[in-house]
Amino acid sequence: MVVPAGAGSAAGFRDEDYRNAGAEVDDGPAREADLVLAVGPVTAGDVAPTGAVISFLDPLGDPAGIAALAGAGITAFAMEAIPRTTLAQSMDALSSQATSAGYEAVLAGAAQLPRFLPMMMTAAGTIRPAKVLVLGAGVAGLTAIATARRLGAIVAGYDIRPAAREQVESLGATFVGGPVEESAEDAGGYAGAVTEDTRQAQLEALATHVAAADLVITTAQVPGREAPLLVTTEMVEAMAPGSVVVDLAAASGGNCEVSAPDRTVVHHGVTVMGPVDLPSRTAGHSSDMYSRNVVSLLTHLTGEDGMLAMDMDDEITAAACVAHDGAVVSERVRALLEEGS
Ligand code: NAD
Repeated sequence: MVVPAGAGSAAGFRDEDYRNAGAEVDDGPAREADLVLAVGPVTAGDVAPTGAVISFLDPLGDPAGIAALAGAGITAFAMEAIPRTTLAQSMDALSSQATSAGYEAVLAGAAQLPRFLPMMMTAAGTIRPAKVLVLGAGVAGLTAIATARRLGAIVAGYDIRPAAREQVESLGATFVGGPVEESAEDAGGYAGAVTEDTRQAQLEALATHVAAADLVITTAQVPGREAPLLVTTEMVEAMAPGSVVVDLAAASGGNCEVSAPDRTVVHHGVTVMGPVDLPSRTAGHSSDMYSRNVVSLLTHLTGEDGMLAMDMDDEITAAACVAHDGAVVSERVRALLEEGS
């Protein structure tokens, strides 16, 4: 078990901690390993030929990367591809990292906002609570709603999936009236792309709510596609100066027309942030959760002899495995590769 020197320093883990847990800390150049456990990205050069890797691998965004791993004979498991089922909950790294992102989005936005979030009764007058609007109520959105509520803001949420209404309301937020579509949710719980009519109806319904919000947090994603546009430039321009937008979808095309990945821009006095790696701001807890997700998957994949047991009839193994035996085994990745060739 080898850990690169300094790997945990930003998360508050010392090399000593890894040594005490029985690992070897390696100061040298990266070595090929039979099994690589990583956050990502991982290339074929990191893994021994015929070895295996468990990592975030962005299979839908980088199908060629999966083909390269397969070509090198590597067995690859993508954390993104683990099914969102009750059985696989302990392995669900998309959820654990989205929890960090949703929490951090509120803190990052609040830090930019020239106002308090809670109501305050002071000798210098009563301060009204800030209004926070969260668009997209999946794991990150629901965590953002809960966090903003704990900080005392008045919170509203919206999602295209009707099932999200109850979850938003159970956190003490109001559900913004906008179009919802039963058909938007696929068997995996994910939203799909919406029609042009629905898109227009969404923009019309959201405009007044965005204009009234002090802080807008957008988290809407459609796996394997560009993120839906929910906040146009015109909508940003209608917000009060000093307001803040935090766009968690900036890296996948953006929910806000003004946002740019990994940048903070000020447009018409409105601060628009496009953070791409919020979980690293709570690196300690993000790492704790991620390591438990990886160990849980690894335990699921290994037989009593400690070797990988490749049971492709098992729902979790079949979904998470994207490359095996020299071939890309994920149908969605194969389809993307064919589209691109
Ligand atoms: P995600 O990151 O893919 O997307 C975030 C949210 O954006 C989703 O709620 C989605 O409905 C919403 N969205 C997409 N397009 C939109 C649009 N045009 N307008 C408004 N909202 C839009 O989602 P996620 O957080 O990864 O969750 C995906 C699904 O998995 C959800 O249904 C969630 O409840 C489910 N889930 C299940 C489990 C489990 O059962 N173990 C665990 C985690 C998540």
